[in-house]
Amino acid sequence: MQVEFYRHALTEEDIDAVSKVLRSVFLTTGPVAASFEKQFSELTGLKSTVSLNSCTGAMHLALLALGIGPGDEVIVPAMTFIATATVVTHCGARPVLVDVEPDTAMIDPAKVEAAITPRTKAIIPVHLYGAMADMRTLRIIADKHKLFLIEDCAHCIEGERDGVRPGMLSNAACYSFYATKNLTCGEGGALATNDTKLADQVRLLRQHGMSKEAADRYGGNYKHWDMIALGWKYNLNDVLSALMIHQIPRLEKQLGERERVWNIYDETCAQIPGVDVPRIAGKSARHLYTVWVPAEKRDACLQYMQERGVGVAVNYRAMHTLTWFVDTFGFKADDFPIAFEIGQRTMTLPLYPGLNSECAQYVAKTLCKFFIK
Ligand SMILES: *Cc1c(COP(=O)(O)O)cnc(C)c1O
Repeated sequence: MQVEFYRHALTEEDIDAVSKVLRSVFLTTGPVAASFEKQFSELTGLKSTVSLNSCTGAMHLALLALGIGPGDEVIVPAMTFIATATVVTHCGARPVLVDVEPDTAMIDPAKVEAAITPRTKAIIPVHLYGAMADMRTLRIIADKHKLFLIEDCAHCIEGERDGVRPGMLSNAACYSFYATKNLTCGEGGALATNDTKLADQVRLLRQHGMSKEAADRYGGNYKHWDMIALGWKYNLNDVLSALMIHQIPRLEKQLGERERVWNIYDETCAQIPGVDVPRIAGKSARHLYTVWVPAEKRDACLQYMQERGVGVAVNYRAMHTLTWFVDTFGFKADDFPIAFEIGQRTMTLPLYPGLNSECAQYVAKTLCKFFIK
């Protein structure tokens, strides 16, 4: 049997929506992007959405729009995808890593407090694997020290914890529509916020700091534009926006499909000694199913699964052990021992709506066989 690591769940309806844009006049950011933004705001319950070409771009512009730059520090977890930290460096600020909770793998609020200095300006919690970080506690810390909160929601559109959804307690929530994410257009992202001024600033920065976007410049008569800030080129075009319009109403149903697979994996993992899974608080968006196997067996386990046709991945090896971080900041493995250990133990199993239960059983059985030979 062959079980791919990931398969998208795009339908003919999605493809037709893209064809319609391709047959129209307007290909860049225009009416379809605008209607996607409106739809996404309704989904998140947040006032404004600015569509962008990546989550990386969303976090970068959030930091810039909040005025973060040289001399500033921004706190990020050591267990995340690299973009959470590199965007801080791109602003000229310093990413300050903190260790994670051993049971959730998410940023540890107690360690956040310990890492705050007079230079600290913001915290970027990551809702890892689809479950949410402890936003209520982080909000209290941010208030106490007057810090911005920017959420890395690349894994978490559908999550909720303690009555809190992404974006409710932060300055901005940053989403990814990358190829393997729960909502996808191949490459894309968005910033969602209740701060309409911040949204306006990000909208300006996504297109060179130009006072008018293409839709305004060429819709009807030509109008002069000005450049009023130094911006970037991070807008999402109408072709890609169209791919997501019909996915949004399907999100909850697809979450249910991933839940079905998740439960099969959960049942199996509970029976294997030495294998743990992260604790989930609240409702998870169920983006990645990661198992923690004994560190000394992880790489052999990855190989075993792949030899038997099961696609697997690692999300993630601890960020501070990657070469650029070691070279730039002089990190040692035991600077963040919990993130390091999780990074040595973690393995991600296939998880997507189209994965049928028979395939999920095969994945679970294969994992079982590696441990109980
Ligand atoms: C995918 C991902 C990103 C980056 O998203 P892009 O849209 O590819 O820029 C950032 N953070 C996490 C946790 C991710 O998984």
